[in-house]
Amino acid sequence: MNTQDQQPSLSLFGGAAGQPESAVCSAKACRADARWVLVWNNPKLHTPDRRKTWLACDEHREHLSQFLSVRSFLKEVLPFADRATTEDDGSTGSNEGADGGR
Ligand SMILES: [Zn+2]
Repeated sequence: MNTQDQQPSLSLFGGAAGQPESAVCSAKACRADARWVLVWNNPKLHTPDRRKTWLACDEHREHLSQFLSVRSFLKEVLPFADRATTEDDGSTGSNEGADGGR
């Protein structure tokens, strides 16, 4: 008799579990492609070697990095495309000593 056991279908966006597969900007309501990776760490919440990452488009990179840097959370900003090659696991073995940047 009771028709109340119909559960509402939960939105896939309801939870904040993990990062989305698609590389879009982390800024609110922005769906632009990510161009930058902001690497940050909150010393009050995270151990020093923990790394959180936000993605940012060109437009929001400044805004998001400002947000993190005023709190001293920001560690580094990396070009999104380079992220895969920037991993420093030591297994690739290419050690470029004199890296002056670009
Ligand atoms: Zn954006």
